[in-house]
Amino acid sequence: MKKKRNVLLSLIFPERCVYCGARVPGGTPVCEKCRKSLPRIEEKVCPKCGRGKKVCDCRGKENYFDGIAAPFYFSGCVRNGLHIFKFRNSTSGAGEFAREMAETLKQRFGDIAFDFITEVPVSRKSLRARGYNQSALIAKELSSLTGIPYKSGVIEKIYETRAQHGLPGYLRTGNLSGVYDLPEPSAVKDKTVLLCDDISTSGETLNECAKMLWLGGAKSIYCITLALTPVRK
Ligand SMILES: [Zn+2]
Ligand SMILES: [Zn+2]
Repeated sequence: MKKKRNVLLSLIFPERCVYCGARVPGGTPVCEKCRKSLPRIEEKVCPKCGRGKKVCDCRGKENYFDGIAAPFYFSGCVRNGLHIFKFRNSTSGAGEFAREMAETLKQRFGDIAFDFITEVPVSRKSLRARGYNQSALIAKELSSLTGIPYKSGVIEKIYETRAQHGLPGYLRTGNLSGVYDLPEPSAVKDKTVLLCDDISTSGETLNECAKMLWLGGAKSIYCITLALTPVRK
């Protein structure tokens, strides 16, 4: 009976692959084609930028965070999946993305005792326009999968900026300076924080958020994203 009901449900609400949008049998979040072509970061990883050592070009650049990890490079079906997640108001990917990130977290930062997970914030204006913060959705899912408590709104984005990816590298750092605020610094004092975002390109957004946590006295700061651009842009 239960099986029958599931079949009926999947006909009414056909499940779609979170990476390409193709219809998949009920209960399967990823289609066969995408599952085989996921651009996993599998090689030896640079601890500073989370990319494979062959593509890393961070040249020992110091960050305010202690480490970063991601399951995937931002290319192929992952690029597509994040586009669906971000721009087509489809939030169904959050669970599957968080599941992948939880695996990576276990492998890379499994021995770290995090006090809480929080997200890279969006401005109030963006939140009103979209109705949700996609990074917060993933952070919440990640929290329920890992048991690490979730704390929302630890960092606030106090004003809107031009999209980072539309700017040349030399303008990005200045573009973000003073954009974020830490409304309650005591919440992060001496804490080990896991900062969650969907994607990192140059790392400047995460670094600026990590800077706020560092200024608030956080003990250590680690970042997790679903994807990293193969080359820092
Ligand atoms: Zn697919
Ligand atoms: Zn590196």
